[in-house]
Order: sequence, then C-alpha cells, then structure tokens
Amino acid sequence: MKLKEIYNSNKPVISFEIFPPKAQTADELSVKINELFLELNVLAKFNPAFVSVTYGAGGSTREATLDIVIKLKKELKIQPMPHFTCVGSSRGNIIEYLRSIEEAGIDNILALRGDPPKGETCFVKPVDGFGYANELVEFIKANTNLGIAVAGYPECHTECCSLEADVENLKKKVDSGAEVIITQVFYDNKSWFNFLEKTQQKDINIPIIPGILPITAFSQIERIIGLSGCKLPESLSQKLEKFKDDKEAIKQIGVEFATNQVNELLDSEVSGIHFYPLNKSTAVKAVLENIKINSLSV
Ligand code: FAD
Repeated sequence: MKLKEIYNSNKPVISFEIFPPKAQTADELSVKINELFLELNVLAKFNPAFVSVTYGAGGSTREATLDIVIKLKKELKIQPMPHFTCVGSSRGNIIEYLRSIEEAGIDNILALRGDPPKGETCFVKPVDGFGYANELVEFIKANTNLGIAVAGYPECHTECCSLEADVENLKKKVDSGAEVIITQVFYDNKSWFNFLEKTQQKDINIPIIPGILPITAFSQIERIIGLSGCKLPESLSQKLEKFKDDKEAIKQIGVEFATNQVNELLDSEVSGIHFYPLNKSTAVKAVLENIKINSLSV
C-alpha cells in the first residue's frame, strides 16, 4: 500500500523503524537477523502500517537493508519501507537500486541525503549524484512509482542555521514529490508544536509523523543527545539524572514519559506515530499497551 493510502486512514497509524544488525561474518549476521525477527514478531501484533529499515552510513548496509526488507514482506507479511541515502551513489547506482526495490514489490521509500562519511565534516556531492535530499526525491519521482517519505527535524537539522531555513528546505522536498515527513526523535512536545506551526506557515500540507524513542538507558540518551542535538524537558532531565545508576528505574521513566508524550500527540490528532524501538520490542510494547489504543488504527 502506498504512503498516501496508509495515511488516509481516519485513525492514526503506527510504524516502526529498525536497522540492519552489525556482524563480522555472514553466519553472525544471520543469527542476529533471526533475533531481530523474534523482536519484530512481538511488535507485529500491534499491526504496524509499515516497518522502515535504515540504510547504513555510506551505503554500508545496502544489501542487508534489501535482504531484511524482502524477509519482512515474505515472512512477517509486514509492509517494509527501505531508507536510502545519496551517500556514495551516482545516478546509475541509484537507478539500479530503485529497480531492485520495485522488482521486490516494495511500494515506498524514505529518501535521505545522509550524513557526511566518518571523519568528514561536510557532505560532498558524489560524482553524478545528489547533494540534497530534494534532488533525490525529484529523481525517484521521475523514475519510479514509489511512494516517497522524507526526514523532518522539529528541533532543526544540526547543519542548518535556523529552524525557519530548515523548514524552507523541507518544503523543497515536499515540492519535489515527498508524500510524508517522518521526524527525528524529540522529547519536548513544545518543539513539535512549534515545528508544526512553522510548516503550516510554509504551506506544507502532507502528513508529518512524530518519531518517538522511549529511553531505555542513561548512556543511550546521552548518545542520542550528542548525535541529534535534541533537548530534554527540564523535569525529565532531572529525573534521569537522579536515577542514572538505577537501570530499571530509567527504563520505567522512559516508558512513562513516552506514554505521556504519545498520548498528548494523539490528542492533537497526528496522522501516525513512528517508533524507534532500536531493534528491541520491550519498551515500545509497554508504551503501546499503555496508550489510548482505541484511538489507533490497529
Ligand atoms: P536534507 O534534507 O538534504 O538536508 C540536509 C541539510 O541541508 C539540512 O541542514 C537542510 O536544511 C539543508 N538543505 C536541504 N536541502 C537544501 C537545499 N536544496 N539547499 C540548501 N540547503 C539544503 N541516515 C542514514 O545514513 N541512514 C538512514 O537510514 C537514516 N534514516 C533516517 C530516518 C529519519 C526519520 C531521520 C530523521 C533521519 C535519518 N537519517 C539516516 C539521518 C540523515 O541522513 C541525516 O540527518 C542527514 O544529515 C540529513 O539527511 P536529510 O535527508 O534530512 O538531508
């Protein structure tokens, strides 16, 4: 089912994002993928509209992403959505990959520019490739029938000088053919509402889906803040600091916070919630069991 149809439901839909596990050998990868599918089996009962699969930095998981996508469709009968970045790919490589996605019967793709390769500070446009996600979106639109999702940043992309400028750039992706925006993780719903206002001012009228990542460990949230620059509400920050040495308490705080955050977003009539389970089911399952399930299209 294409993204446009998925988000045409009168109730919010849920989706999950997973990443191809890291492994040294093919055997180890196969074991880890089986473990991942056990976790996905748990989440499958919540009837996700799709599961998206990330594309490793520099195309490092190109084949693994496609293998997992095909397995999701075949074995779990879940609609997969591969991510794809411009990193290291020429137009020719991109067309080849898009064809393999379409041949596998995939309906949608998440189109991204990607981060600069490790050790480099700015993104360098690949030879005969693209420098920004909006160019990739335009190319996918012109060459395939895939539904296209793109990334949005409620607290501004780390390289951009202001949220206003970043939303202007987001509008370019929408004008190029994006049908849905999925956001980076955020914890302060004030940032979300402020972002929505800015997108409305720029006449962005496609579904915008909040990205939710329940906190499960203190070190994990420190890493996420470092990578994404997301801000924590003061009360959450204080609670986490107080219990930082108590692993179980942190997990409980994470689930409780995400439950309240999602409930507030559902009350504001979002079209969907995109969860980042980080390949584990426990925390997201707990949140889904807590929230107003009747308000979801499950
Ligand atoms: P763009 O939309 O191109 O934006 C990049 C920067 O350039 C921004 O600062 C923007 O304001 C600016 N900009 C955009 N267009 C223009 C323009 N036309 N002119 C001038 N400036 C412009 N990374 C991965 O490697 N693999 C993944 O699977 C992956 N999945 C993700 C999923 C989600 C939901 C999100 C939110 C992020 C994901 N990322 C992933 C991270 C993403 O690749 C990085 O955040 C990357 O730095 C930006 O990608 P983008 O598609 O948002 O880029």
